[in-house]
Amino acid sequence: MTQFLLPEFRSQFPILQQVINGYPLIYCDNAATTQKPIPVIQAVASQLEHCNANVHRGAHHLSANATTLYEQSRDKVAAFINAPAREQVIWTKGTTESINLLVATIGMQRISKGDEIVISVAEHHANIVPWQQLAQQCDAKLVILPVDESGRIDVEKSLPLVTEKCKFLSINHASNVLGKVNPIQSLFSKAKSVNAITVLDAAQTVAHLKIDVQSLDVDFVVFSAHKMFGPAGLGILYGRKALLDAMPPYQFGGEMIKKVSFECTQFNEIPHKFEAGTPNLTAVIAMGACIDFLSSDQYQQALQYEQDLIAYAYQKLNQVKGLRWLVTKSPDLPIFSFTLSSLHHQDLASYLDSKGIAVRSGHHCAMPLMQYLQLSGCVRVSLAPYNSYQEIDTLVQCINQFVNEDF
Ligand code: PLP
Repeated sequence: MTQFLLPEFRSQFPILQQVINGYPLIYCDNAATTQKPIPVIQAVASQLEHCNANVHRGAHHLSANATTLYEQSRDKVAAFINAPAREQVIWTKGTTESINLLVATIGMQRISKGDEIVISVAEHHANIVPWQQLAQQCDAKLVILPVDESGRIDVEKSLPLVTEKCKFLSINHASNVLGKVNPIQSLFSKAKSVNAITVLDAAQTVAHLKIDVQSLDVDFVVFSAHKMFGPAGLGILYGRKALLDAMPPYQFGGEMIKKVSFECTQFNEIPHKFEAGTPNLTAVIAMGACIDFLSSDQYQQALQYEQDLIAYAYQKLNQVKGLRWLVTKSPDLPIFSFTLSSLHHQDLASYLDSKGIAVRSGHHCAMPLMQYLQLSGCVRVSLAPYNSYQEIDTLVQCINQFVNEDF
């Protein structure tokens, strides 16, 4: 197994030292949100303590400092995803808002009666409902791509569904339930061949895989800071410059304005055109520290360790009596979703909580996927590189106790 200094890495996450219900916390709900390392926590505190002033506005020292740090974070995110230009990185509240922004702007511009919007059956509600509302408003159709038993979008069955009528293809890089990386490249090529706009929901992959927007050749990419060890309340929308330039603003007021009179308003250039009102500057500034953390050699080692952890957890969980996976074979990401024959997923989650183990149970904001799989819900164990083999052992031991009613 890879040489990796887990105790050193783990010590950067103070929350993990907690005791819950008398047991050391074992946090296995990382697909919902990740814990924060000390540099991110310190960046939040430091912004509030030393650098709190509104950005882009004030003619004073504090404001100039805050603006510099705020824009440096944009540079860091742009470099992290290999965006051609910093202006192509827009701050939003999260993945959900990034998708809503797209739907309300370029979606409204481009969708008319009879058009098709293509998504997959394994999308998070955030990548279903905004498009569904747009389709209903414009008399367009939502086309649903199937997933195969491995848990990935079924390319063979899906390619014929992306036709000349398709105006948007919006799919996840990996589902928050299935944990498999989708074969996005062939689907994006097909979308491109019919002049459809491509949107990648990278909320689940960005902390685990290199996202290079140029080599992906994708029009828009969306993700959330809180799922990549960054602060909550901050999302990213990356977009192709020509498309962003041609899109109308999403909301009005504040920095998105260049000039206002009662007769008319001139809007600012990108990225500011899409950043109305006072932004979440604490989160944006802390995002700089988050990107430094993710770009470190230590984090690259952590990702190698994560591959070992996935293999270990899959093999251990596989031995639980009556455990049924939602998909075949090991996941690509550390996301393990399963049911236990005749035992309710919520009962298991509550039992694990009583032992200090945090997992998620339910529909995971993917009700249509649950329906497709004919499930009322499932348990999801989702890991991060601060989880240990011992934690997996304890988790599996507790699941076995629950299965055997040995408690
Ligand atoms: N898309 C995927 C694949 C997700 O996993 C999530 C959150 O779980 C979202 C979108 C929504 O993200 P947020 O709630 O941060 O906006």
